[in-house]
Amino acid sequence: MKLFTIFGDPVGHSRSPLMHNCVFKELKIDACYTRTHLTDGSRLRSVFMAKGLTGANVTVPHKEAAYEQCDEVRGIAATIKAVNTLVLEKGRLIGYNTDAEGFVRAIESFGPIRSALILGAGGTARALSIALRARGIEVSVLNRSAGRLEYFRNEGIASYTWENFSPASYDMVINTTSAGLTGSDLPLPKTVLLDLLGRTKAAVDVIYGKETPFLREVKTLGLPYKDGSDMLLQQGVLANRLFLRDAYACEEIEPPMKRSFIL
Ligand code: NDP
Repeated sequence: MKLFTIFGDPVGHSRSPLMHNCVFKELKIDACYTRTHLTDGSRLRSVFMAKGLTGANVTVPHKEAAYEQCDEVRGIAATIKAVNTLVLEKGRLIGYNTDAEGFVRAIESFGPIRSALILGAGGTARALSIALRARGIEVSVLNRSAGRLEYFRNEGIASYTWENFSPASYDMVINTTSAGLTGSDLPLPKTVLLDLLGRTKAAVDVIYGKETPFLREVKTLGLPYKDGSDMLLQQGVLANRLFLRDAYACEEIEPPMKRSFIL
């Protein structure tokens, strides 16, 4: 039996085991996906090997540590410097990032997007900015503080703090901050946010499983929107395809994985 896991801290809330096990069960694949609570990210590689894993996902806060411990990093993960999917290939640990591509697949239903403003400057913002720019979308980033904006400046991406930002018109505003994850915080001061959303065509929050204060404002204004569920699904579909070495198409993996959302 092939073994897979998700590494994270915390990891108890993760839907990944349910999502992947549903696919394995319905496609009759002899495999099992578990959770691994890992506090020390530097042990990721040794724990992966000790457990005899075929593949794994990596969540907060270990995506950068995973990047450091791979033998080879493929695709967009090399630019983002964060890995969320690991696959063992001939004894070598190969790293990928399916968050970025998963997000791009998740927003296809909105139709063509020419410009996007990303709220937040953490790992998810980095992944999305690189993936969207690779699709020819004009990307800007807005963060509460300046510290994390250096990466974007080095990548030539327009970046602002609350102090030097003036609301402009964007096809899409994407909230990647953790504001609203637990409390009632908005990702921006309310007056600026409402001004911004008044000039915006669509909005996405990458947080899933709850209505954030950001999405509540978006809904009140009647904008087309999505939460992070489709991104979660699509990054999972792409990871599962890598785990099974392309034996199944995304179209075969997606329906059973989607069914796990109603369990
Ligand atoms: P990070 O911790 O790397 O970054 C968090 C960002 O949020 C920082 O830019 C921080 O600003 C900002 N922030 C935090 N609190 C506030 C606040 N109260 N007001 C304004 N800004 C705030 O997080 P990640 O990028 O790793 O993850 C972000 C979110 O994305 C998480 O909620 C995670 O669950 C979600 N996610 C969803 C996925 C999906 O599949 N749907 C996949 C991956 C992530 P500052 O720099 O000033 O501190």
